[in-house]
Amino acid sequence: MSWKISSESLQEKQLLNEESLFFTGNGYLGVRGNFEEGLPDTYSSIRGTYINAFHDIVPIEYGEKLYGFPETQQKLLNVIDAQTITILLGDEKFSMFEGDVLSYNRSLYLDKGYSERNVHWRSPKGKEIKIKFLRLVPFTHKELFIQKLIVEPVNYNDEITIVSTVNGDVSNFTDKDDPRISSGHAKRLRVNEVQQRDISFVEVETLESKLKAACGATYKVSQDYKREDHIKSGMIQSFFSGRLTEKVILEKKSVFVDTLRHGDDLSEKVEGIHSLLSEAGFEEALRQQEEYLQQFWNDTDIEIQGDTSLQEGIRFNLYHLLQSAGRDQVSNIAAKGLSGEGYEGHYFWDTEIYMLPVFLMSNPEIAKKLLIYRYSILDGARNHAKIMGHSKGALYPWRTISGTECSSYFPSGSAQYHISADIAYSFIQYFMVTGDMEFLKEYGAEVLFETARIWIEAGHFKDGQFRIDAVTGPDEYTCIVNNNYYTNAMAKHNLRWAVKAYNLLQTMEPERLAELSTRLVLELQETAVWEQAAKQMYLPYDETLMINPQDDSFLNKDVWDLPSTPEDKFPLLLHYHPLTLYRYQVCKQADTVLAHFLLEEEQATETMKNSYDYYEKITTHDSSLSSCVFSIMAAKHGYGEKAYDYFIETARLDLDNTHGNTKDGLHMANMGGTWMAIIFGFAGLRIKEEGLSLEPILPAQWEGYSFPLHYRGRKLRVTKSKTQAKIELLTGEPFNIKVSGESYHLTQNDAIVK
Ligand code: BGC
Repeated sequence: MSWKISSESLQEKQLLNEESLFFTGNGYLGVRGNFEEGLPDTYSSIRGTYINAFHDIVPIEYGEKLYGFPETQQKLLNVIDAQTITILLGDEKFSMFEGDVLSYNRSLYLDKGYSERNVHWRSPKGKEIKIKFLRLVPFTHKELFIQKLIVEPVNYNDEITIVSTVNGDVSNFTDKDDPRISSGHAKRLRVNEVQQRDISFVEVETLESKLKAACGATYKVSQDYKREDHIKSGMIQSFFSGRLTEKVILEKKSVFVDTLRHGDDLSEKVEGIHSLLSEAGFEEALRQQEEYLQQFWNDTDIEIQGDTSLQEGIRFNLYHLLQSAGRDQVSNIAAKGLSGEGYEGHYFWDTEIYMLPVFLMSNPEIAKKLLIYRYSILDGARNHAKIMGHSKGALYPWRTISGTECSSYFPSGSAQYHISADIAYSFIQYFMVTGDMEFLKEYGAEVLFETARIWIEAGHFKDGQFRIDAVTGPDEYTCIVNNNYYTNAMAKHNLRWAVKAYNLLQTMEPERLAELSTRLVLELQETAVWEQAAKQMYLPYDETLMINPQDDSFLNKDVWDLPSTPEDKFPLLLHYHPLTLYRYQVCKQADTVLAHFLLEEEQATETMKNSYDYYEKITTHDSSLSSCVFSIMAAKHGYGEKAYDYFIETARLDLDNTHGNTKDGLHMANMGGTWMAIIFGFAGLRIKEEGLSLEPILPAQWEGYSFPLHYRGRKLRVTKSKTQAKIELLTGEPFNIKVSGESYHLTQNDAIVK
């Protein structure tokens, strides 16, 4: 049962959320779970189909525009709508909001990779039919979206017309009252071409970025129905009509392509892909999808014994991460994946800190592709560094698609310099987990060098310390501060590893180092400064409270009175001016606590525990990136119940719409956070230079859990029950691993049992 997400709701608000929850995608293409025939005009709906990274450039309008503010931003576009299919029974149009719905359910199959909607419907005039809608976006054919419609007569055997559309005349969704959704620029596509040959072909072009996308659809109908195609303003409608004497099946194959990946001749490309796929129908696509997913779940699934609803949440979250992860050089994972338009399809630090670890430990090839995307926008980061006043180095934009800064509010945007260290951190993690020297040589080293340079320019030496002023840490309720603990600790790590990478290249890849040194004008003396800055990095510590203050001024502020804040004032960002928030000790999300998780060797356990206790009281978790971190650190500090409670918040956040905005898209970072809370939290995994360590604990509510891990070409399985923890080496060479403080040599013959 926990492989299937189902609903029978026809309630307006729930339907809107389900458009995100039931989306189908494959990292390239994402189709929201809209009803094929649409909803009544009075219902809100966000109808969307997205191609990862396919965007237009829109102007940012400022009242006061200061030097260096970005003038434009990118915006993920809703592209051509190929989902629309309507059904006419004589003069009556099928709608679930007219006549009688005699039965209805919809499901998303996480093990088979498709969605299904079943309706038994009686029209206002008493015509009764059964309809099944199936849809699938294959992981193995990224351009394809395949739908299957089955209409079965119950008491009606007369005229039926099925009308299927490919529509280029589409817009994005806007909401002027929510800063997390764009407030304008809805219509950014013009239709270039609408052609009906063997393929119903529509090509669109963005107004400013001049990117083109196209969709070509073909059909297969089980009955000898009459077909007519009509072209009208930006769309093709294909009418299939006949008598409904027996079950009729329509299969629609829509192929999407775009000029970011497929060259300029999109029409030729669409034809080529269709001819390759001409034999394969829905059943074949389904077979391949299942095969792909079997492998994915084999490498990724977390089994929980003793809680079906959390099990459902975990699998749902992992599945949607897979559906949203870009696997080519031009794309990544947007904050809402490919499920909606929130945050305009931008990529944030969310990927590196919250999502990449999932792939790194289960599917390192996808992790690698995500990192190559960051490498591919290194020039964008270099440019951004220049704009921000630096003479050299690379400063990654806070939010972006194609590499330029898209944040229009710099205090909680561009000022979040930590994103560069977060990206560097991921490259380091990747190296530690895979040992892939080739990757470090080709990509990692350059990223580490260029990001390290930024810290030297953003910070300065004073009284024997290296200090970094005027930046914002992860907590967006505290902006532009000096010596944010998180930023300084992460920068230190970045600097240390830049030196390490330099030394590694010097001994193992001197030619590459010579090439990089020439191209980047990098000399040995510069690495000595990096080393010095790392050594002397100032990490704030308060003697009285025995905690790490979030920044230099944090503890001097008044504490926000959270217990007296009415519930309807959350999230605070929608009810208080930013300055009001900045004046108090109140955190939107984990900041110092996150730094303690990522770099725990920096502090004594006692300091981390004191800090946890302190920050927990003043954190609202208004950001969905927060609870998972508190769960991980609660587990570390022996707060089992708290770890569990925070975990529950992450596991079903979207399924239960606890943040109230699932309609705008799923919270992808939190979805990765669910995995993290189990693997890094309950199982206590840590990835260090010297190897892996685990400290498994079991929440009292569960019977047990089990999951696989990939590490340096090996596959492991960790199983925790009420009585023992078992670590098995399934494939690969023996190696050393620490479990609950003790070192073991793990071989395929001997599992570790504790
Ligand atoms: C969080 C950021 C995050 C962004 C996108 C904001 O609400 O505070 O940390 O990067 O959402 O998910």
